[in-house]
Amino acid sequence: MDNENRQIKGFNNFSKFIVFYILLAFFMIYLYQYFFKAQTTEIPYSQFKSLVEHDRVKSCTISDKYIHGIYIDKDGRKRQFVTVLVNDPELVKVLEKHHVKFSGKVTNTWLTNLIFGWILPFGFLFFIWWLMTRKMRGTSGGLFGFGKSRFRVYLNEKPDVKFSDVAGAEEAKQEIQEIVDYLKDPERYQRLGGRAPKGVLLVGAPGVGKTLFAKATAGEAGVPFISISGSEFIEMFVGVGASRVRDLFNEAKKLSPCIVFIDEIDAIGKSRAVNSLTSNDEREQTLNQLLAEMDGFDSSKGVIIMAATNRPEILDPALLRPGRFDRQIIVDKPDLKGREEIFKVHMKKIKVAPDVDVKKLAQMTPGLVGADIANIVNEAALLAARENRDAVYMEHFEEAIERQIAGLKKKNKVISKEEKERVAYHECGHAICAYVLPGADPVHKISIVPRGLSALGYTQQLPTDERYLMTKEEMLDKVTTLLGGRAAEEIVFGSVSTGAQNDLSRATDIVRAIVTQFGMDEKLGLVVVEQQSGGHFLTSEGILTKGDRVSEKTKQLIDEEIAKIMNSCYVRAKDILRENKEKLDKLASELLKKEVINEEELKKIMEDRNGD
Ligand code: ADP
Ligand code: ZN
Repeated sequence: MDNENRQIKGFNNFSKFIVFYILLAFFMIYLYQYFFKAQTTEIPYSQFKSLVEHDRVKSCTISDKYIHGIYIDKDGRKRQFVTVLVNDPELVKVLEKHHVKFSGKVTNTWLTNLIFGWILPFGFLFFIWWLMTRKMRGTSGGLFGFGKSRFRVYLNEKPDVKFSDVAGAEEAKQEIQEIVDYLKDPERYQRLGGRAPKGVLLVGAPGVGKTLFAKATAGEAGVPFISISGSEFIEMFVGVGASRVRDLFNEAKKLSPCIVFIDEIDAIGKSRAVNSLTSNDEREQTLNQLLAEMDGFDSSKGVIIMAATNRPEILDPALLRPGRFDRQIIVDKPDLKGREEIFKVHMKKIKVAPDVDVKKLAQMTPGLVGADIANIVNEAALLAARENRDAVYMEHFEEAIERQIAGLKKKNKVISKEEKERVAYHECGHAICAYVLPGADPVHKISIVPRGLSALGYTQQLPTDERYLMTKEEMLDKVTTLLGGRAAEEIVFGSVSTGAQNDLSRATDIVRAIVTQFGMDEKLGLVVVEQQSGGHFLTSEGILTKGDRVSEKTKQLIDEEIAKIMNSCYVRAKDILRENKEKLDKLASELLKKEVINEEELKKIMEDRNGD
């Protein structure tokens, strides 16, 4: 099945098609002029003058450039003539003298020429072309033509998008620089000892610029960019998807070094276990083919597969194994500074009035992504154009932002101001506990830039060093930190939200381990009720696998002890936060303003108050 292959080269075929028809059009114009003009003899003005003087011109029409008319030739036959008009003030007198019917004509001939010489032939050609493409589309539903027109591979020879067109996302840019270096000269890169990358998975919410990123990578490296959407692989006919994957890779090898970009890879890469009830053979075959192709090709060939998804958790783990999409780059939603830069990038394309405050615009658009901002700038420009203004003013941007946010609110994609405040306090609760408690890992970053669908904010803690032994105190500090978010919510808002669910289950896991695995509980003593079942001790897997060894009474005791420890940690978290309420407020308001707070900034706020 070579249909898809042809489709990729379809661009060439298409241009051949066009060239052929343009030639045909010229030929037809030539024919038209040949036949229509043939009956008209072109005569010099002097001859025209002498014909008039010999009374052989019957009538004529004078336009601003030509004189058309009818004369009688030597054999007495009527003939059409045309002559170029010369500036001759005597002409009218002469015509009148010889009783020639004449009329003036203002309309110039370019319009008729345009209609008959160009528009009609082209219209005709487009009609034929339309008929033919319709026919082709008609057959694509048939067994032999499938995919012919539905399978779209976009081949972009060296896109002119550069990293400078992608605002913000500095971390992702750095990570991707290596890929650029590699693509620029695959052999040199390998000679220097770099391991050739193969697959890069870009993870991020829709509209954060994943496609833009992939394109910019190709643009920076100066290599072709082939893109296809994952959902386009899947069709009704079994086997089509797999053959498309094969053809895609064949084509990519020919174009190497190049980038193949698969958007929405989750459409094919969904974990095979996820919905085994409605198993989709077609998808599975396509996925298997993709895996086989990725394993099969020699990475020194210089083909990089980039894929994008906003749901990495549902991907088949096989896709993420070494040698496949083993690099994952997270493209976060932009923070305040990022949004400001994105505004700037898109404003380059329009005329911005001096009253526009980009910083303020960024503040007005929390939670929005690059695609939203591109829309806003576009909308603002349209609004200004509609008002016939000389530039795009702040009012237009404000209006455009309102519209964009109203549109997103309908789709439930915008968090409200109250929610944001709650998230800020929650994260600061974690951060302050972590800062105060010696056993907790130090805070690296606090953020309320929403990430993915579930997490509205996060506090990133980095362990100081790898440790295999932990004291009970350290573990309790960790639990207290985990509960700090919920505690802060309770102190500030008097109620708790559902946002702390993940914190609670992680805290419970640790406490359960304290009680049942490490013999650290006073009541249960040294009895190890559960075996550590491989992996890290914090994972919840395998808990109570040895449940048969435990009596009902012990189980109850375990539950009681867990509840007791959890509770005391929670009380401790609340105490810490009450003691540091001022710092909590200050940190939260700072976080609301900046959206991201790093280690040093946290330290500054925490120590600033200590000095008072
Ligand atoms: P995704 O693939 O993540 O859904 P896209 O790459 O299709 O997002 O982004 C859509 C558009 O949004 C881009 O074409 C670009 O105009 C704009 N955009 C997104 N992110 C950025 C960014 N970081 N800088 C500049 N423009 C961006
Ligand atoms: Zn939390």
